[in-house]
Amino acid sequence: MPEGPEIRRVADRLAQALAGRRAERVRFGLPRLRSYERELSGAVVESVEARGKALLTRFDCGFALYTHNQLYGRWYVCAPQRPPSTGRSLRVAIETEARWALLYSASEIEVLDATAVDAHPFLARLGPDLLDPATTPARIRRRARDPRFAGRALGGLLLDQEFLAGVGNYLRTEILFFAGLRPERRPRDLDDEELARLSRAARTVTLRSYRTGGTTEELARARRARSAGEPRRLWRHAAFNRAGQPCRRCGTRIRKREVAGRRLYLCTRCQPR
Ligand SMILES: [Zn+2]
Repeated sequence: MPEGPEIRRVADRLAQALAGRRAERVRFGLPRLRSYERELSGAVVESVEARGKALLTRFDCGFALYTHNQLYGRWYVCAPQRPPSTGRSLRVAIETEARWALLYSASEIEVLDATAVDAHPFLARLGPDLLDPATTPARIRRRARDPRFAGRALGGLLLDQEFLAGVGNYLRTEILFFAGLRPERRPRDLDDEELARLSRAARTVTLRSYRTGGTTEELARARRARSAGEPRRLWRHAAFNRAGQPCRRCGTRIRKREVAGRRLYLCTRCQPR
């Protein structure tokens, strides 16, 4: 499933194609949404925002299109009348004069008015977005000390979108690796130095992934690993997907575990406790 950085890049691509432009026609593949086609066709797209792992496309008529891609949903941007050849089923088409944006296969699609956006159960519960500049390490530290979160093991807590929005499975492994912490640790048991490392890593790793298109390893190390012939699935991360490979810092073999129902990778030496 795409995580915050991937969703944000999709939002950027859609905003570039749509923002400020009139949607000449909006079409929906799901019958329950067809009544909105008339409301949205002719409206100007104001913005496309990433909210955690969801996307919000706002129109100047007051409606917003909420989409959550889960595993299969996929957006394409193409020239008018030139949709991709795909066996997927079309769910949404936003057609401007210059570009079309087409969403395939996603099932979580809603059209919301302003009140419904504020009250939306998923959006209302979302924690601070790690790609939002307002989500500083200091804010993450305070949130981790909040009694709602402080007693929970990091392995589960980091996946909870209510704690921090945008973290999924590969980011969880990488944040813990760069923080040097084990997944069973709880915020309330961390000393100030450990909590500072966690907060910095959460922000840095997520931002790096967004800027590079999915690389979480430090760039100099990733480049060296790539030159040494490692395939992308290995060089792009420090620990994730690298079970049995030597840690690039200390040479210890990376281990794979199941934590909170998902796979997690760690270096027992770089993450001693
Ligand atoms: Zn190591």
